[in-house]
Amino acid sequence: MEQDWPMLTEKLPFWLEESRKIASAGKVASYIPELARAPQDALGICIAGRDGRQLTAGDDTLSFTLQSISKVFTLLLALMDRGESAVFSKVGMEPTGDNFNSMLKLELVEPGIPFNPLINAGAIVVSSLIRGATPAEKTDRILAFFRELAGDDTLAVNEAVFRSETATAHRNRSLAYFLKDNKVLEENDDVEKVLEVYFRHCAVEVNCRSLARMALVLSLGGKDPETGRELIPRRYVQIAKTFMVTCGMYNESGEFAIRVGVPAKSGVSGGILALVPGRCGVGIVGPALNRKGNSVAGMKLLETLSAAFDWSQF
Ligand code: GLU
Repeated sequence: MEQDWPMLTEKLPFWLEESRKIASAGKVASYIPELARAPQDALGICIAGRDGRQLTAGDDTLSFTLQSISKVFTLLLALMDRGESAVFSKVGMEPTGDNFNSMLKLELVEPGIPFNPLINAGAIVVSSLIRGATPAEKTDRILAFFRELAGDDTLAVNEAVFRSETATAHRNRSLAYFLKDNKVLEENDDVEKVLEVYFRHCAVEVNCRSLARMALVLSLGGKDPETGRELIPRRYVQIAKTFMVTCGMYNESGEFAIRVGVPAKSGVSGGILALVPGRCGVGIVGPALNRKGNSVAGMKLLETLSAAFDWSQF
């Protein structure tokens, strides 16, 4: 990585502007009304190296909400809270091939548990597994965890986005009630309280720098980049990275693995978290999405970087 910095520093602004040109081909998500306010042509990136260096370009200071990217980290916290066997008794390990908010397989396939923790149904179950007596207590623990990984004590929930999703999330509500009926959410899991935790962690606001720092921790196998202290057990990071490869980029995960070849997770806000194991963490925002729900310009920029620096793990 160190030998790549000079070329990266020189080329990144150009590559970013080249990628930005295709943002007009995408569409900003609007099913959560508040997300529709994001700027269509924005594109920002931060690359965080293991030596503490950060390289940024474009709209790297733009704030956006984590949305689905948060699912990687709530999975990690649930694994730390409950252990592997408890978590995977309630959520599977396989990609679905369906939309991220699909209900289809919950009914069609025995035993009715969500296929994986990165689709909405799976992430809602994971939210129910976070320790804490109340939604506020669970959210506080999630925030404390995210802040530590991001190296930013100011990370907070964007209340407007939270309220906007809460008011319009009919499908997520249906999924959650279905999971309750299937007894995947248990007797003492109040559906609305579980959803509150889920909507709040989706609405945590970041920028490219904080996102890149979270990615860097994963690229270092769970270690704090400054102190070397273990923040997440290596085994759990391995699990999270594997899900990122198999289901991190919605129904474009296979194509992304071929074109870019690194663990990554995107969200409907246009964020992408990507990491090159042992080398760097990457945070990107580009709100205009392609038909699969991934940042159209962000994908192009990652593809360019991967080709230039041989990032593919395969
Ligand atoms: N909060 C969003 C939802 O549940 C997250 C979706 C996403 O980013 O894929 O619809």
